[in-house]
Amino acid sequence: MAKGKIGVTSENIFPIIKKFLYSDHEIFLREIVSNAVDATQKMSAVASSGEYKGELGDNTVKVAVDPKKKTITISDHGIGMTEEEVEKYINQIAFSSAGDFLEKYKDDIDSIIGHFGLGFYSSFMVSEKVEILTKSYNEGAEAIKWSCDGSPEYDIKKAKKDDFGTDIVLYIDEENKEYLEEAKITELLNKYCKFLPIPVAFGEEQEWKEDKMVDTGEVKIINNTEPAWTKKPVDLKEEDYNKFYKELYPVFEDPLFNIHLNVDYPFNLTGILYFPKIKNNVEIQKNKIQLYCNQVFVTDSVEGIVPEFLTLLHGVIDSPDIPLNVSRSYLQSDANVKKIASHISKKVADRLAEIFKTDRKQFEEKWDSLKLIVQYGMLSDEKFYDRAKDFLLFKNVDGKYFTMEEYAALIKENQTDKNKSLVYLYSTDKEQQFSYIEAAKEKGYDVLEMNGQLDVHLVNQLEQKLESSRFVRVDGDSISKLIPKDEEATVSFSTDEKNELIGVFQAVTPEKSHFLIEFEELGEKAKPMVITQSEFMRRMKDMGSMSGMGMYGDMPDSYNLVVNSSHPLVKRVLEEERGAVGEEVKAIRDEKTPLEEEKVKLEKEKEGKKEDEVPQATKDRLEELGKAITEVKNKETDKLKAFGKDSKLTKQLVDLALIANNMLKGEDLNMFVSRSIDLIK
Ligand code: ADP
Repeated sequence: MAKGKIGVTSENIFPIIKKFLYSDHEIFLREIVSNAVDATQKMSAVASSGEYKGELGDNTVKVAVDPKKKTITISDHGIGMTEEEVEKYINQIAFSSAGDFLEKYKDDIDSIIGHFGLGFYSSFMVSEKVEILTKSYNEGAEAIKWSCDGSPEYDIKKAKKDDFGTDIVLYIDEENKEYLEEAKITELLNKYCKFLPIPVAFGEEQEWKEDKMVDTGEVKIINNTEPAWTKKPVDLKEEDYNKFYKELYPVFEDPLFNIHLNVDYPFNLTGILYFPKIKNNVEIQKNKIQLYCNQVFVTDSVEGIVPEFLTLLHGVIDSPDIPLNVSRSYLQSDANVKKIASHISKKVADRLAEIFKTDRKQFEEKWDSLKLIVQYGMLSDEKFYDRAKDFLLFKNVDGKYFTMEEYAALIKENQTDKNKSLVYLYSTDKEQQFSYIEAAKEKGYDVLEMNGQLDVHLVNQLEQKLESSRFVRVDGDSISKLIPKDEEATVSFSTDEKNELIGVFQAVTPEKSHFLIEFEELGEKAKPMVITQSEFMRRMKDMGSMSGMGMYGDMPDSYNLVVNSSHPLVKRVLEEERGAVGEEVKAIRDEKTPLEEEKVKLEKEKEGKKEDEVPQATKDRLEELGKAITEVKNKETDKLKAFGKDSKLTKQLVDLALIANNMLKGEDLNMFVSRSIDLIK
């Protein structure tokens, strides 16, 4: 029997382990089980090299919980350790300048563990005492028992053990007794050990018997020792990939595609990534990729390792070359990690390009689910943009798909404006923008459907990348102005007529928003009026509300009310207005004319003169005239307003335009309904 001090030059390693690892206590099991797996693999290596000639026996690593004794025991049939090896590997922890190191990394205990191979010591996070019962495979080796109660003092003595291998016994302390529950251990084994390369047994298989689950007496192996990513792609079929996906994510639907990664230079990396089925935009979940190191689960938060946009993918990456036990910020700046990230990004683009090329039909069918990830990639990764631009698809409102090149060719003829700019029309809501889409189609235009989360951002990006191209929402303007061509449409109304109608319609537009009234000859078949919002205004407002920047978001909405001057109902409003208040309006206008003429005359006189050369009398008169004109104008407006407010036809027309835009709500909608009933009574 011997006593000794563990070779940690600083005495405070245990309290630190206990204290700072609290959030990650559970990794102790991963560390101890993976040590057992390592020892078992080393044993088979020793056997196949011929160095060991005896029977290997069962290689299963066994985990057992004894709630009465408050122990967890992890037993392996691996190489075991001689007394010298325990001394070397367990007692002498290479711990140079421990004090400095602990000070520096005390908030990042992962670094301590990884750096100094303290894996085994993590067991002290949950144990008041740890025992190692081990026997080396070496002929004639004696079993020994090491035990330590968490102080830097240990105890080592000869012991009895029939077979080579190691049992690690953890005496779980009071604070951590949750780890004595079978369910908890099952959960941890499932999380960390599910794909370890050596079978791990815990508990017993169960079966249904007389209405309940009972143990069968057969040990239960909790892991799949040969997960799909460790196999060769040629040995796997589509079903195998899908089956493995189900193993990873039991509740998800089958994925769209998979990408089998297999790199051995300049770094080692294997894995399978899956494009998940994204049913609607809301359910996107990041961090579904699991990172493994030689089949040991490390983490499922992979930011910094895979490009941001690919965190939307699912699957597994396994690499012994990613420095796993270092901090995130270190990971992100690590050159190897960067290489891995860009490699994965390239692989993903290549795979998509391949599917697009070989099976466009399938690609189109899956596009709606793929789109978000592809767009995210294009927006966040220049190189990915360059690779993806050839297979990015546009979908039009009729559900047809086009590559960017195909689409540009399709619309070139008809949708190039007078400034030689190619105008892409899009709709964000086929239902709501139905009438605008119809109007565009009538003109022979094609309209894209852009209702995805990233469409707006992609539109911005494409406008910068594509030469003389712009995107306009289909309700961004009246149809003749959406894609301005050379032919200038004339409006049949005179200036007076227009002014009168502006007054009348202005009276009934909603007060909360700003409406600019315009006239256009849209044809008798078109609607009497439409409401549009300019692309610029809308994007500003969208951006304002998205970024939470008040300025544009808080501005009142501003719209255009485009009045179709060729529509009979509009002409009828004019007739009715003239019939009702035409005389009075004319009289007011006659009052205004001499005032305006005098004003023009005086202003002519003023022209070219300096302020002090203009006689005071002229200045005074001009001011008087200004006031008088405004007064008369107000009179005119009031008259027209009064008429507008009383005119059922006017109100009905504007309300119909508002309804078509889903803008008539609450009391106004109620009034519209009552008025409509009156009108058909
Ligand atoms: P690491 O595993 O990172 O080397 P550990 O502290 O977990 O660090 O283990 C230290 C060493 O102790 C191992 O490298 C191994 O040589 C030895 N060891 C630990 N557990 C076992 C075991 N179950 N069987 C044989 N050797 C073991």
